[in-house]
Amino acid sequence: MRIEDVISLLEKEPMTAREICYALQIDPSQEKEVFEAIKRSAKILKRKGKQLLMIPPKCRKCGFQFETMNPSRCPKCKSEWIEPARFFVQP
Ligand SMILES: [Zn+2]
Repeated sequence: MRIEDVISLLEKEPMTAREICYALQIDPSQEKEVFEAIKRSAKILKRKGKQLLMIPPKCRKCGFQFETMNPSRCPKCKSEWIEPARFFVQP
């Protein structure tokens, strides 16, 4: 997976890690590596004076908003039904 590819996707539209997997034909089991790539792209973009933003994950059951990138469970209602984070490059 090339960081440049991840960045160019996120420059077009907000995407979840899973959507990035599909777009780059990466197996969804490697989603963790996509999150790592997102973190690295944030640093690269910062050096270029750009910013990578996150639309935070949200619990679909109670609406709790997370601050972490990839939560598995809601601390409030224990639901695992989570709307994933989306990432995008601030234009
Ligand atoms: Zn919840």
